[in-house]
Amino acid sequence: MNAATLQPPASDDPARTAERLGPRLYAIRRQEEEDRIAEFCQYVSPKFTYIKIHLIRPVEIAILKLFGLYARGRREFHRMEVVENDIAVPGLPPALEGYTILQMSDLHIDIDPSLVETIAATIARLRYDVCVLTGDYKNLTVGDSSEAVALLKSLRPSIRTPAYAVLGNHDTLDMVAPLEKGGYRFLLNESVVVGRGEGKILLAGVDDPYIYKTHSIENALAGAPPADARILLAHSPTIHAEAEAAGFDAMLCGHTHGGQVCLPGGYPILNNDRCPRRFISGRWTHGRLQGHTSRGTGGCGLPIRLFCKPEITLHHLRRANPEAIANSPSSDLRPSSFVVRPSSFPRYRGRLAPSPTGALHLGNARTFMIAWLRARSQGGEVILRMEDLDHPKNKPGAAAAAIEDLRWLGFDWDEGPDVGGPCGPYVQTARRALYADALGKLVRDGRAYPCICARKDLEAAQSAPHVGETLFYPGTCRGLYPSYQAAREAAGGRLPAWRFKVSDGETAEFEDVFCGHVAQDVSSFCGDFLLAREEDGAGYMLAVVVDDAAMGVTEVVRGDDLLETTPRQLLVYKALGLEPPRFLHVPLVLGPDGFRLAKRHGDTRVAAFREAGVPPERIIGMLAHWCGWAEEGESVSLSDLVGRFDLSRLPRQPVVWRGGTTPFANENMIG
Ligand SMILES: [Zn+2]
Ligand SMILES: [Zn+2]
Repeated sequence: MNAATLQPPASDDPARTAERLGPRLYAIRRQEEEDRIAEFCQYVSPKFTYIKIHLIRPVEIAILKLFGLYARGRREFHRMEVVENDIAVPGLPPALEGYTILQMSDLHIDIDPSLVETIAATIARLRYDVCVLTGDYKNLTVGDSSEAVALLKSLRPSIRTPAYAVLGNHDTLDMVAPLEKGGYRFLLNESVVVGRGEGKILLAGVDDPYIYKTHSIENALAGAPPADARILLAHSPTIHAEAEAAGFDAMLCGHTHGGQVCLPGGYPILNNDRCPRRFISGRWTHGRLQGHTSRGTGGCGLPIRLFCKPEITLHHLRRANPEAIANSPSSDLRPSSFVVRPSSFPRYRGRLAPSPTGALHLGNARTFMIAWLRARSQGGEVILRMEDLDHPKNKPGAAAAAIEDLRWLGFDWDEGPDVGGPCGPYVQTARRALYADALGKLVRDGRAYPCICARKDLEAAQSAPHVGETLFYPGTCRGLYPSYQAAREAAGGRLPAWRFKVSDGETAEFEDVFCGHVAQDVSSFCGDFLLAREEDGAGYMLAVVVDDAAMGVTEVVRGDDLLETTPRQLLVYKALGLEPPRFLHVPLVLGPDGFRLAKRHGDTRVAAFREAGVPPERIIGMLAHWCGWAEEGESVSLSDLVGRFDLSRLPRQPVVWRGGTTPFANENMIG
């Protein structure tokens, strides 16, 4: 029978597989598999399958090519994203705190053999304690499985832990024996106990519940020993209710591919499951059951993905009581990363990040021009991200106007709010969940706390006059409030902000590509700094770090007014376990009074020049002249400047704008 086994002996023959799955269920599945093959053969010549395989694919590809989506879909197919998910388990023993399960799903690996390499490269940098695979190893539901088996075997050495697997609806019972010889262990309505130290996790796996319906949680749990955490592996989320009733802490599944081909923003056009939408992709809960549906690591049908990146998931076990987690000694067991830079961005990735708080002016335009040329001169990609978290200052229509101004000047971008892309959404207010997630990690790790101090009180308390916007914070609220709620009650109506806890003497240093070595003692420069002003962590300092990491930005090019904030961001990168990008800070355009370009320096809005009939090449020529890449008065298009980009000619001093209110009245307005 199917008593739970601590280490199920491998199947080397079908009889053994039958015994493990249960003879009755085995017979049902075997018969179904044969029926499908028969059906397939029957249709091969005139009907459905023939048409689907031999005709629809080229037609689909042609249609996608027509819309320019095929190449993009191919690229996205290899842009693995490492998704992190916490599983809270009441009473989890300290030995299991941070225990990490690597999940892969829906590899359909024979659709594109190069997936083996992409997966291997992605998981090489990850830390995990065990690997699980939740079904669909093969592309087609029928036909030869030997290529899929061979490819999976070639992937196995890249997985550094035991690997447990369940069957999906694309897989056949014949695959079990060869794959087990290749180092995978199937859970055929069976359980296994894994863990660390004294901690024990029951990993139960059931057969495909979607097409074959030969799953049996009851068999999988028969004779199962007690464990500290109980996790179910199943190909599809269809059986979430059964899983909850059986008392599992968590259920890991796949099958839906998250849609695989989605509308911009990740909205699935089709999904192949019977579940309500919330079970289709990512984290969900059903009663006390915490579930996760992987978007899949590969994909089937066509080897493409659109607006739905392939996923490799790291599930971290956490004690359900957050206080216990904060006090846990096992901080070295915590995951090393929050969002992992997608390994499949081999190229330079830069970004333009306008804020819709005002119109694009010559100063912003020059910084964006440098950032854009820096990327394009290296054949790199450009992302446009709208940094709109500063609600009170946002101007209606400013986001659309910034895009219009940039386009008019000749900018383009590969990903952005108006064109979509694999790392979307590209508008910060639509990314709040990510910031909340990062903030949660910082709070758990004791690196962030709520603060109810008002800015005017802090200003009054400064002993020396402060420069710019950075105030030193003496840590008044540190350790005072156990939760945001408690701080809010103490604040009497004012909303608390979040601060980052800086240790005594904590410094950060980096090599700026343009400014050279920068080092700052953050603890004495600003102390515990502001991370965000909103309860969910949406705020510049946290958001910029999370977004640049999640979008795979390799280098940040921006104005040197932000240079002094970079050390703070580096501390946030470090606390989240993220690898920071390179930084290149460039001098700003200033008014004659030495201050950042503002209204009093005249109308320097790009739109004002456009309305006055100044051609974009003339503006670009002037901005390029300020960088040493064009003659004075020269007209040049942005794309023509790509070949002239040269950082060594960029002046180290700020540009001083002397145009007054009548730009282009004479050519002596800059100096
Ligand atoms: Zn699948
Ligand atoms: Zn499936």
